Amino acid sequence: MILGLLKEYGTETRVALLPETVKAFTDLQVEVLVEKGAGASAFAADADYEAVGAKIASRSDVFAKAEVLLQIQPPADEDIQKIKDSQVWISAFNPLWETDLVKKFLDAGITTFSLDMIPRTTRAQAMDILSSMATVSGYMAVLEAAVKLPTFFPMFMTAAGTIRPANMLILGAGVAGLQAIATSRKLGAQVQVFDVRSAVKEEVMSLGGKFVEVEGATEDKAAGGYAVEQTEDYKKKQQEAINDHAAKANVVICTAQIPGKKAPLLIPKEAVERMKPGSIIIDLAASSGGNCELTKNDETVVHNGVSIIGQSNYPAQKPVDASRMFGKNVLNFMKLLIGEEGALNLNFEDDIVKGTCITHAKEIYNERVKSVIETK
Ligand code: NAD
Repeated sequence: MILGLLKEYGTETRVALLPETVKAFTDLQVEVLVEKGAGASAFAADADYEAVGAKIASRSDVFAKAEVLLQIQPPADEDIQKIKDSQVWISAFNPLWETDLVKKFLDAGITTFSLDMIPRTTRAQAMDILSSMATVSGYMAVLEAAVKLPTFFPMFMTAAGTIRPANMLILGAGVAGLQAIATSRKLGAQVQVFDVRSAVKEEVMSLGGKFVEVEGATEDKAAGGYAVEQTEDYKKKQQEAINDHAAKANVVICTAQIPGKKAPLLIPKEAVERMKPGSIIIDLAASSGGNCELTKNDETVVHNGVSIIGQSNYPAQKPVDASRMFGKNVLNFMKLLIGEEGALNLNFEDDIVKGTCITHAKEIYNERVKSVIETK
């Protein structure tokens, strides 16, 4: 197989594979073509890739020669024209949400894999880019809040008096939320947490957070550990409880998401208006609509002195470790696509390969994406 590693575009600083991971591919007899400068913003030089057996090529050469094209971000429109139907495209392109892009892939007959669709099973844990990147986001959200907040996170007992610790409210205790709890606690803040899944209560408590329970949540084992839509009655009760806690919080970190759906609205404008000026809301659900009504994706909005930060790509602020984790996940996934002597082997009998494949031979392979597109 010839694997083409593309340079990202826009504000993305990560690269899908660092040289250390490229070495693991060349050891598996995969030929790796790296676009010139692909690793530069993650501090990996072309020479570092060459040292582990990769070849450096221009972007057009990578598109012309590679059998498998790899990058983190979805392809730009002009790139889609360049991909041939004999090639395989691998990136994270959020197909449950970006259905127009899926249709373009389908029309062009391209085989595509979206790494954010890797099934959340035990066998796939080492391939799970969503968990890796959510870990970075949860950590970075807390650090950004700690820097921007006009007060301290920990309690300080000084000769000039006692400083009270910051109050954090974390909405959603999935991977990002749990990392945010751990990081906030390390910095000495007091942490309250909401989630609709009761299973996370013990994890929240073991990290030193206080789990705020709202009775009557809908849970569905068939959702594979994910949250599902809630009843109107529950949403109303939860809203009142969150509003009261938000009014007392210095920092709110929003992480609540439902795969393939708009993020639940948990902080309406009125709740923001009850918060103290100088408080901070970091909305990690910004790219799927946000948990706060005032969130704007990739922007900071200030309302009555409250900053609402809609940063969607914190991993790009930690490009080295984020690329390291991403690359390890890609390697573990791609081992399923590498056959004898490094040849490409698309084994759709494997549930992880089938579940992650979005389009192949002008068909939609992933069942969830298929049903989203059919019902649109
Ligand atoms: P996510 O990003 O989809 O959602 C974040 C959190 O928001 C979840 O905990 C969810 O319950 C919560 N949420 C949704 N709606 C809410 C609402 N209205 N109010 C409050 N909270 C709400 O989730 P995630 O972090 O990607 O992972 C969720 C779960 O997936 C994990 O806890 C785990 O069970 C499972 N998981 C499995 C694997 C694996 O086995 N490979 C890896 C990672 C995660």
